[in-house]
Amino acid sequence: MLTHIRDLVHDAIARDYAVGAFNVENVETTLAVIRAAVQEKSPVILQVSETTIAYAGLKVITSIVEHVARDVAGQIPVALHLDHGKSFRSVAACVQAGFSSIMIDASDVPFQENVILTKQAVDYAHRKEVWVQGELGAVKGLEEAITLLEREPFMTKPEEALQFVKETGVDTLAVAVGNVHGVVKMRKGMTHALDVARLDEIWKAIPNTPLVLHGASGVSVETLQESFQHGIRIVNMNTELKLAFVNALRMTLQKDVDAYDPRDIFKPSMQAVQDLVASKFRALKSTGKANH
Ligand SMILES: [Zn+2]
Repeated sequence: MLTHIRDLVHDAIARDYAVGAFNVENVETTLAVIRAAVQEKSPVILQVSETTIAYAGLKVITSIVEHVARDVAGQIPVALHLDHGKSFRSVAACVQAGFSSIMIDASDVPFQENVILTKQAVDYAHRKEVWVQGELGAVKGLEEAITLLEREPFMTKPEEALQFVKETGVDTLAVAVGNVHGVVKMRKGMTHALDVARLDEIWKAIPNTPLVLHGASGVSVETLQESFQHGIRIVNMNTELKLAFVNALRMTLQKDVDAYDPRDIFKPSMQAVQDLVASKFRALKSTGKANH
């Protein structure tokens, strides 16, 4: 059931868990994530990126998510979100298309410019009651195995977070507290630490703004669960799902070189994504939370 993200996040706050936000790009990954949500009776956020919109078309991917949410998810709450919107134009298109949440990511420009761009998105989205996620600090796709100390200059500063939320009116905030985007860390099997003390300071500065953890693939279950004690209520997962899908696909094709039907070839990949997402719901303690 397509649901406003606000309802999912408010329930996560009330019952102390985090909502998983998973990137989907086609009917196969959408089905896999929603089947996992049904299996685990877990609320879920499905998010699409601008590159997915370029790949599939906004109307196409939106209607896939809407129909799967209605026909497969049943009473399980499913929210649709734009991940890393980079321009007002793409944000506005998703607001018009019926998303209940969008991200405007202007974290790569100076603070004041980030405030201006984010505020513009908030003013537009809030007229349609759509939530806005901003980002402060840089969750870089760092290629090197660098330490928390080396990442420190890119991290979110608590006093800036307070000013940013006040000036923009964002509903949720993506923070950089040592989390890292990207595939390199996954291929190397790296796990990484978070600066929990900093996360706590940010949360204390903006206690009414749910925080979002990007780049959570490769963060240990213990660290994830600790992060909810310091304001994280949405956890994004992207890379790990793609790897699960493609690794299973490679094995399937190697095992049966004569296979030619995409439906047979994709089945083990969809199952791999479903199993992975189900395990993430358990880690986020959202299993069973779709029932009130
Ligand atoms: Zn991200």
